[in-house]
Formats: sequence, C-alpha cells, structure tokens
Amino acid sequence: MPAERDVSTGSVPADLQTCHPRRLAEPRTRAGRAALAAMLADPVRALLATDFDGVLAPIVDDPDRAAAHPRAADVLGRLAGRLGGIAVVTGRPVRQVLELGGFEGATGLDELRVLGQYGVERWDARTGTDSPPPPAGIAVARERIATLLADHGLAAVRVEDKGRALGLHLRHTTDPVLAMRCLREPLDALAAELDLRVEPGKHVLELRATGADKGVALESLLAAGALDAHVDVVAYAGDDLGDAAAYDAVERHRTAGGRGLLIWSAAPEPTDETCELAARADLVLDGPEGVVGWLDALADQLDGAGTSEGGR
Ligand SMILES: [Mg+2]
Repeated sequence: MPAERDVSTGSVPADLQTCHPRRLAEPRTRAGRAALAAMLADPVRALLATDFDGVLAPIVDDPDRAAAHPRAADVLGRLAGRLGGIAVVTGRPVRQVLELGGFEGATGLDELRVLGQYGVERWDARTGTDSPPPPAGIAVARERIATLLADHGLAAVRVEDKGRALGLHLRHTTDPVLAMRCLREPLDALAAELDLRVEPGKHVLELRATGADKGVALESLLAAGALDAHVDVVAYAGDDLGDAAAYDAVERHRTAGGRGLLIWSAAPEPTDETCELAARADLVLDGPEGVVGWLDALADQLDGAGTSEGGR
C-alpha cells in the first residue's frame, strides 16, 4: 500500500513510514529475485547503478530543466550507507547531473560516483572529476552540424553542446520520427569520417566519441579495486536504448557467476525498440516515481522497517 505523499515536498512523513511500510515489489524473473535476495542478505557486496534521465528524473521538453525527482538524492543517500557502491551512469556531463540531481554535498552521498558522457567523464564525491580532453572530431562536427541541419530543412532541431558530445533534440520538429530517419544516414557518415559514433535515443541523436558506452562504464566499476568492497551483485536501472550496453554488462556479470538485477523505468510513450529492452528487465517500474519509490522500499528493507511481497 503506497504511503500518502506530502505534495509540498514529495516526501513521506516519518509517522506514515512507520505505520505503512512500503512494499518492495519482487522482480518477475528467477535471476532478478536471486539478485535482490543476495542484495538484501549482504548489501555491502552490492552495487546500485542508475541512469539519470527517465529513471531518476522525468523526461521533459527542455533537457536543461530535467530536475531529479524530489526524493532521488535522499533515497540514494539512504542506500549509500548500506550498499557497497552507488553510481549514476549517464550520457550527460557530470556537472549537469550533479546540479540537476542535487547530489553534490547531499547527505549520505559522500562516496557517490557519477560516470558522465557514457563514462568518458568520471566523478567521485571524494576526489572530484577526472576527464580526458574532448575528442578532436567533436570540434569539427560542431562547425558542420548547423549546415547539415539546414540542408535537410531541419533548422528546428535543437543542438545541445555537451563539450564531448553533441545532442540533436528532435522533439520540437514537426515530425520527430521523420526527422530521425532523415538525419540518421548523414550523421552516420559524418561520424564515420570524424571517428565518432551516433547514439540514438527518444527523439534524440547524439554524436560522441567511439569506445565509450554505459556497459564499459559499468564494468569499470565492477573491476577489482574500483570500489572499496568486492561486488557480487549489480543492479542497473535504465529507460532507453543507451542503457542496452549496461544491460549487456550486467548479463555478462551473471554469465561470469555474479548476480544481476535489471531494472526498467517505463516511459509513458514506449517505442518498439525500448519495448525490446524492457522485455529483458527483471523488474519494470513506473517511471522515476516508481523507481524512487522502489528504492525507498529497498532502503526500508535494509533498515529492517518494511515487508516484501516475497515474505523474506
Ligand atoms: Mg535515460
């Protein structure tokens, strides 16, 4: 039974938390249930990694205003004290995610890691950002992208300059699906010429460096010595095609004998491609509200305050 929310703050009053502990929804797969059970039994050996947009923050028209769910930082802070590691793995620059999420300096998040721009930028709350220089091809693409858009009658496409990547937002064009089709081939050609790659998302095409994806980023956290604790269980929450590589990494971790929990944050407007990825998930939650609520319930369980559907 969901507890009543305080609409002014998005938080659940402490007395209601005690009276109505949140239920922890069970994964629908055996592998997912095993991973969750292992996470609850030995949380310090578990890593929680999550995408930002669409998972911790609702998708909005203006990506600069995609603030995190009001409870996101608090919930991650609650879990950080229990789990072996907490990381945000995102296509956004680190600095943007820290600001939109309100993560920097948040209670409990003094060991948070943010892997920005698909892992090219790395930020550790203890040490700060450590980033290599931007790929040379991005500077050339930045010069040529306006001409490319004008040539295709797509001047309405909004270009987001991420420094190491360029995001082409198609949401404001008259037909975003058609715009995606028109742009894909010329962008692929430009990317091949400049040693870049094109990453598609919901009404967005991103031009970025090769060799970086969320799977590589996630595996860097699982490498020996990357976290203080040895991690057996990895839970990853995503909502879009850019998360496929992270899902692959979790599945490789399972194949190698570890436990993995694939969480999907369902969007109001799924596409065929995102539905395929959602089908791989062990646990499907209802957007950022569902994800944050589930993570809160997980924290309750780890604090010994809640009850799970499985009766553990
Ligand atoms: Mg996302």
